[in-house]
Amino acid sequence: MKLQRRYRKIRIILVAALCIVTAGIVVINALMKVYHQKINERPTDLVAGFCAGIEDLPPEITLNGDGAMTLTVGNAYEELGAEFLDDCDEVELQIAGAVDTNTPGIYTISYEATDSSQNHTIATRTITIVPEYRGVIYLTFDDGPGAYTNELLDILKKYNVKATFFVTGAGDDATILREYQEGHAVGLHTASHNYAYIYQNMNNFFADLEAVGSRVKNITGEDSYLIRFPGGSSNTVSSRYDGGTRIMSKLASEVERRGYTYFDWNISSGDAGSATSADQVYRNVVSRLTDGGEFVVLQHDIKKFSVDAVERIINYGLSNGYTFKKLTSSAFSAHHGINN
Ligand SMILES: [Zn+2]
Repeated sequence: MKLQRRYRKIRIILVAALCIVTAGIVVINALMKVYHQKINERPTDLVAGFCAGIEDLPPEITLNGDGAMTLTVGNAYEELGAEFLDDCDEVELQIAGAVDTNTPGIYTISYEATDSSQNHTIATRTITIVPEYRGVIYLTFDDGPGAYTNELLDILKKYNVKATFFVTGAGDDATILREYQEGHAVGLHTASHNYAYIYQNMNNFFADLEAVGSRVKNITGEDSYLIRFPGGSSNTVSSRYDGGTRIMSKLASEVERRGYTYFDWNISSGDAGSATSADQVYRNVVSRLTDGGEFVVLQHDIKKFSVDAVERIINYGLSNGYTFKKLTSSAFSAHHGINN
């Protein structure tokens, strides 16, 4: 028994010779015979009878590297092989499988060892190829619903992309209901969009916010606690109307105290300013996307040219590894610095 144990410590290390590191379609099909001492050396060199009394145990297989690997699409797959351990007899080894590193999916490589007594052992390695992940895009649309919102909803539906609508007192109730029913986030912007009124004092602000809040509640049956300040939290236009009370600083903390979460943006499409075409909106958005970030994009669904840019933005995002999500109260809020 001692002899057998010691003998089984001799490891036949194989397949390191395959050393495949490739992107694209990797097909592995290696069949080889090895003998218990050295590759291609028959056991005749051994002292006669050395193996005679040894129990013939099945081969053991230990994978080099992880048994389950996850790779981002386009990266190289490295086949590290396995260690095969067997006792005194001849072993046939087969490693087979294919991986296409350019196509997301789940692939399997099998490692099989059969000894001369037909003891058979199989191990497998699973390689999951996932799409490249570059970030999250939160598309947000202010000032609607408007004449182009249904068209926008059709585009979002086509790609199963969820977005966020910061709605006002304008537009159709049916459109807000559709936003809600199709799984988008319905947030609150303002009932009146009248800066002179809402930023005059806190009471006016909350009266306006509660008006749009009850509109949404009546349509969807749910309270919304996601808000966007007209002009964003960094606006200075409020200083014209607030009598020097620095109302934005007060509102930013008061809305949170009342359970709301406010969202600014870190990508402006420019559709409320310098951008006047779908092309410009598209370029303004995609040129600001970087790797590994979260992006809250500001657009207005009351502008046709801005809605017209959305399908191209979605196509760009999806084909470049971005995930589109709707905002939630725990999502990235893209807060601006407050200036008033
Ligand atoms: Zn607005």
